[in-house]
Amino acid sequence: MSNLHKNIEDMTNEEIIQNINDWQEYEMTHELICGNNSNHRPLYPIEEDGQVLLRCYDCNYIQDWIPDCVMAFSKKSADIIAKKIGASFIRPPKGKEKSFF
Ligand SMILES: [Zn+2]
Repeated sequence: MSNLHKNIEDMTNEEIIQNINDWQEYEMTHELICGNNSNHRPLYPIEEDGQVLLRCYDCNYIQDWIPDCVMAFSKKSADIIAKKIGASFIRPPKGKEKSFF
């Protein structure tokens, strides 16, 4: 057995941010959303004082905890699992309706 991802404790901020972005963009995950208003655009990662935080585009909401499933997210393993269970995308890829900038 090989590990598909590193231990969460050993991850660099860069790796954490990459996993958050992958999670937020993946077709079959439910993206992390604003705690103030779920109609706001999905949260995005920022680095502050050496810590990765999640921030809302549309208000001042900041979340300082990141769920383990997001920390450990791997697109590669998610694709393998999706294939195994025969999952098909139930909605169009995210991002098409988003305009971040
Ligand atoms: Zn918000």
